[in-house]
Amino acid sequence: MHEYSLAHALLDGLTDHLRHHPVEGRVRAVHIRKGELLILSEEALAEAWRILTEGTEVAGSELRIENVPVRVRCPGCGYEGPVKYMTEEGWHFAVPVLACPRCAGRADVIEGRDLAIVGLSVDDAPEHPQP
Ligand SMILES: [Zn+2]
Repeated sequence: MHEYSLAHALLDGLTDHLRHHPVEGRVRAVHIRKGELLILSEEALAEAWRILTEGTEVAGSELRIENVPVRVRCPGCGYEGPVKYMTEEGWHFAVPVLACPRCAGRADVIEGRDLAIVGLSVDDAPEHPQP
């Protein structure tokens, strides 16, 4: 399962990060950026995260996913930035066109196809049940 291996990679990265930068308190949420070209089910990713984090220091945390648009770099004219989006009637989402919007040459995707952790929400209150 695609989402399972993505969640696994995220957890590996996070565990490694926490080893070097320990946090005080409990990690409540893990903020991640998801590139628009990365096709996944957010529910399946959340479910994989819940299963994989069980018994770890980040158990009970939730993933907060922010979708990021595609950015390209054009080797032909040096353009760097967002791409054009094609919307067609009947489509429920816009499809990025992976060509340089300036010269229409083939552009390299520099952002928009991976998952990356961008931050953590940490609850530093002591763990007492809420009244
Ligand atoms: Zn170009």
